[in-house]
Amino acid sequence: MGSSHRPDGTGRDERLIRTAMAQAALAIASGNPPFGAVLTDQFDEIVVAGHNTQVSTSDPTAHAEINVLRAGGAIRGAPSLDGWKLFVNAEPCSMCLSAIVKSGIAELTFGAPHEPHLDPYLPAADVLARTKRPPRVTGGVLADECAAQIAAARNETGVAPVD
Ligand SMILES: [Zn+2]
Repeated sequence: MGSSHRPDGTGRDERLIRTAMAQAALAIASGNPPFGAVLTDQFDEIVVAGHNTQVSTSDPTAHAEINVLRAGGAIRGAPSLDGWKLFVNAEPCSMCLSAIVKSGIAELTFGAPHEPHLDPYLPAADVLARTKRPPRVTGGVLADECAAQIAAARNETGVAPVD
């Protein structure tokens, strides 16, 4: 897994991570954990964007990534999202990483590294090291901005992290 940012003349990664951050802002505004995700097709066209809805839907698995993978499958009309790409404002947890692998996602791009309270504590690199067909991963896109948004949301609510 590369933590260095892949040079990209189009600014695609930054643009889509900013879209994920805008989704995270919607999550925050609706009282959910501060995470957003964007699913694109193989041509980088946005298929669906979404955010964490764990609190508003009382669903412990309603992470932003799971929500957009589910929506993507419905849109595609298939359980495989082979070749599509996912952009998230933070490093996905092990549940979402497993779902990403099972979906056939080709590329994963994320912003901030995961927070230390993650449980189970399984960094993306550890999960993907045990994966037969891992997606291409780029981490750390706009990492400081993403981490600042997450930290601000955590401080605002003052409640223990749920994610
Ligand atoms: Zn997750």
